[in-house]
Amino acid sequence: MNRRKLTAVLVGALLLVAGCGADEAVPPTEVTAKVPLPAGATELTEPPEAPAAEDCGDPTASLRPGSLPAPNALPPGSTMAKIRAKGKLVVGVDQNTYRFGYRDPFTGSVEGFDIDMAKAIARAIFGNDKALQLRILTSAQRIPALKAGDVDIVIRTMSINCDRLKDVDFSSVYYEAGQRVLVKEASGYTGIDSLGGKRVCATDGSTSLRNIAAADSKPVPVKVSDWTDCLVMLQQNQVDAVSTDDTILAGLRAQDPFTQMVGDPFYNEPYGMAMPKGQPEFVRFVNAVIERMRTDGSWQATYDKWLSGLLDPASPPAAKYKD
Ligand code: GLU
Repeated sequence: MNRRKLTAVLVGALLLVAGCGADEAVPPTEVTAKVPLPAGATELTEPPEAPAAEDCGDPTASLRPGSLPAPNALPPGSTMAKIRAKGKLVVGVDQNTYRFGYRDPFTGSVEGFDIDMAKAIARAIFGNDKALQLRILTSAQRIPALKAGDVDIVIRTMSINCDRLKDVDFSSVYYEAGQRVLVKEASGYTGIDSLGGKRVCATDGSTSLRNIAAADSKPVPVKVSDWTDCLVMLQQNQVDAVSTDDTILAGLRAQDPFTQMVGDPFYNEPYGMAMPKGQPEFVRFVNAVIERMRTDGSWQATYDKWLSGLLDPASPPAAKYKD
């Protein structure tokens, strides 16, 4: 193209651009994309199986704490001695629950209240927490992982109840949570009673999902894999609310200031550390570690470190023992 022709083309192009100037309205961009659901998200048409009504007494009463020997004097043949001999304590935890078990985006490490509890158990067995190995589990993976022997213990916002006691044993209560509701600010919802016929999100395998299904107001439970999936669905208007423990909701709330927790707690959710059945000496040992944390100020220090500012001030829950 010679010089004159090139100039003509450029001038033409400029005129064309100028032609669609200020007085010609540009149509707004139409957003037609369907927002995908988080993988595995399902609206439940059938309520999840109700927990067995069978009474097991007070499920939070655990075995009385045993002695707490020095790490190099653990009773031979005990679960603790075996864990020490294999060189690692494998703990099932979460990586999605901000301040309880979550991945710090700056360091890449999994941290939080539950993780510090796991470190305390590791220190009691090894004298330090370097042998701690964290295994990330969803709510639904907790009991299968314990039954398969994939983890030594689960410390993952796990509520104690009669139903679960058929499959695993629990420590004494190390945290008292309560189930509440998280909604978008100005949504008008006031709690679980105001959510009849509305979609309410919780993870598969959680007590929260069953509690939503059992609510008199009859919300529609929507199950997902991880708690952060519920927050994404709330933000995308795919559910109307998230309902689970106040601990978990407080962490979601901290990640989205346009959400709020509403209504009173409508279920008590006492957290225990879950262990495979048939290891009473391990349960007593873990209870001794928790008991020491209750009395020496380290429970309180752990609470203050991770949860003050997010939840109301709290003190360690009292333990109940059965024998
Ligand atoms: N505490 C409830 C449970 O154990 C909900 C917490 C969770 O699933 O992470 O099922």
